[in-house]
Amino acid sequence: MFKCAIGQVVRLASVLLMVAAIGCPALASPPVNSCFAVRPADAGDQPPSLINCAGTPAGYEQATLWLRLPMRSPPNHLALLVHTTRFDQLKAIFAFSDGSREIQEVRRGAFGDHWRIGGQIEFQPRWRTAPLTSVWLKIDRLQSYGLLRVRLVPAGVVSHQFELCAALVGAAVALLAVTALYNFALAVAVRRRLFLWHGLWATMMVCWGVVWSQGALFAFPQIAGTSTSQLATVLACLAVLLASLSAISVLKGVFASQIRRAITGAAIAVVILGGWSAVPGADLAMIGTGLTILTLSILAAIGSGLVIGHRRGESDASDLLIAWVVPMMVLGATQVFDFNTSLFGGGAQIAVLFASAFQAICLSALATRRLGVLRSERDAAIASEAALAEVAERDALTGLLNRRGFVRRCEQAFGDLHHIPFGLLLIDVDRFKRINDQFGHEVGDAVLVRLSTRLRAFEDRYACLAGRLGGEEFLIGVSGIPADALERFADHVRAEIGTSDDDIHPGVTVSIGVAHGTASGPFVALYGNADRALYEAKASGRNRVVLKEAS
Ligand code: GH3
Ligand code: MG
Ligand code: MG
Repeated sequence: MFKCAIGQVVRLASVLLMVAAIGCPALASPPVNSCFAVRPADAGDQPPSLINCAGTPAGYEQATLWLRLPMRSPPNHLALLVHTTRFDQLKAIFAFSDGSREIQEVRRGAFGDHWRIGGQIEFQPRWRTAPLTSVWLKIDRLQSYGLLRVRLVPAGVVSHQFELCAALVGAAVALLAVTALYNFALAVAVRRRLFLWHGLWATMMVCWGVVWSQGALFAFPQIAGTSTSQLATVLACLAVLLASLSAISVLKGVFASQIRRAITGAAIAVVILGGWSAVPGADLAMIGTGLTILTLSILAAIGSGLVIGHRRGESDASDLLIAWVVPMMVLGATQVFDFNTSLFGGGAQIAVLFASAFQAICLSALATRRLGVLRSERDAAIASEAALAEVAERDALTGLLNRRGFVRRCEQAFGDLHHIPFGLLLIDVDRFKRINDQFGHEVGDAVLVRLSTRLRAFEDRYACLAGRLGGEEFLIGVSGIPADALERFADHVRAEIGTSDDDIHPGVTVSIGVAHGTASGPFVALYGNADRALYEAKASGRNRVVLKEAS
């Protein structure tokens, strides 16, 4: 278990490295085997004759960097792909054996039709019979040689590569966008801030994906180059902040508020550093190191918190941990293997997008499952509550409504029918004590149950409810029978539920006191009238109905 926990933390750390790689120039790989020269800016387009083929260039940030690309056996028709966008101006110079040259250029804010999805710039010389002899790059005010990546690709495969790259970026961004919307819907539906953070984080990853891949240039071509790159760094840092906030909201029960505040502070510092990287003249190497240290610390803290939460059985912490495991393995792999120019030029960033999409989908699926469980638990609780309420409103011996159930259901069923007459029948078994005394309580009970069954049958035939008030006293509440017909109805009841002797039951008669009014009127008032009527019925000889006029 402990080993497993350590493994999780290590994987968390590798994610952090990946996130840091988005904003940290030191982790990218520059072109190998190229020769270079650094010249003062604006010194013309004639490639320098004195070039250096060992070491790495220095002092190019405020000057012009010339690079001659290695071409062992140049294909007749090729495409030059550049992956760096932090410079003022970039020229691709193709030299041919007949002495001719072709120059294509892009500059900050104006990539023309050279930009490609996947953060790439493509240059293709026009076809000519003279073979290509060399390819030069002339870059004014390059911000970081460490970020420079260049590929020479046969022209035939290049459009195919961009189609696949666009498909991959589009798929990952679409998945993230859908899960972002889903999490926002969940946040609104269940009012949990955690889903809001998840949704905002996924949205930020969508923005990052669109900006990093240069897809945003469709709408804003003027941000081509350094602005796009700077914006991508800021968005990546904001994604770190939102991911931290979503994890912190899960870790409320694990970390004291000071630790949570410290993590939030570090995440805010990441955003500040990301913003600082966009300031002209900022030291990108130092900012990159700062970002790495901060993000590593945040992920180490969050990772250990999630492991602790998971071991304590906290479901949100377990969900987040599960959702992070696979992305972390993928992202860890991007640290071991160089994906910088793989995945059709999309490199590690496409892996980051897919890992994020997986994480977002995984979190959504786990949340949905957990909400499903909660919902079925809630349904079961409501059902058992309803069953308990039903039991609480029923009489145990006869199954008829007890007094409380009778009053509530009469109000529920007939209470709104203000203009429809309502009659209350109070039914008392005559000389029931004798039955108990002669035949025993059990027989007495059986008589009560049989009488209840007969009373209940009225519920199917009339708009009425039957109840047992207690002892050998019963109730019928009937709606829609006018006062003048109520006495006849009560007499019908008396005749139907009264019985003569049979083999197992002694015969019984009942006396009924009737009151009329409306179901919304206070029960006690109706009951009082019915009780007085019943008293009269008993006093005047039993086995009869007496109706009491409303007072
Ligand atoms: P009256 O005609 O005046 O109503 O006479 P009565 O004997 O029916 O009235 P009384 O109130 O004197 O007696 C009611 C009896 O009902 C007394 C009690 O033992 C009996 N009883 C009350 N609840 C139950 C019950 O759940 N089961 C049985 N077997 N008897 C019950
Ligand atoms: Mg009685
Ligand atoms: Mg009685």
